[in-house]
Amino acid sequence: MIVAKRFNWEAAHRLPWHEGKCKQIHGHSYKMIVEFDGELNEKGMVVDFNDIKKMIEPIVKQIDHATIISSNDFELKELFEAKSWKYFLLPFDSTAENLCNYFLGLIIEQHKDLLVANRVKEVGVKVFETDTTYAYTKATLK
Ligand SMILES: [Zn+2]
Repeated sequence: MIVAKRFNWEAAHRLPWHEGKCKQIHGHSYKMIVEFDGELNEKGMVVDFNDIKKMIEPIVKQIDHATIISSNDFELKELFEAKSWKYFLLPFDSTAENLCNYFLGLIIEQHKDLLVANRVKEVGVKVFETDTTYAYTKATLK
């Protein structure tokens, strides 16, 4: 059985190497769907939706209304530090694919014990950059 919850945030970003318009700082209304695949417990649940909210919301708060900056985008990082503007630093470019991998890793790293205790076998993450485009990845818990 798979349960999932959707989260939303607003953020700006750019891809400095991009030859099209993504080189410019622009914004997205991001959506992320987090899925948990596992066995039903005695209460008829995979993971309590409230627990999912508690796991993921702190991560979303950090990135909401921030500018996502890759750590090699020195100019932008310097500017945001000097101005004390909110930014979310990534060790790689802020493509939907990279964000997807990053959030999946973070969720598993921070909540593995809870997920294993809930007999979750697989975690999936979808990151929507727009209404029509998303990246999707999943990992099996060992
Ligand atoms: Zn973009």
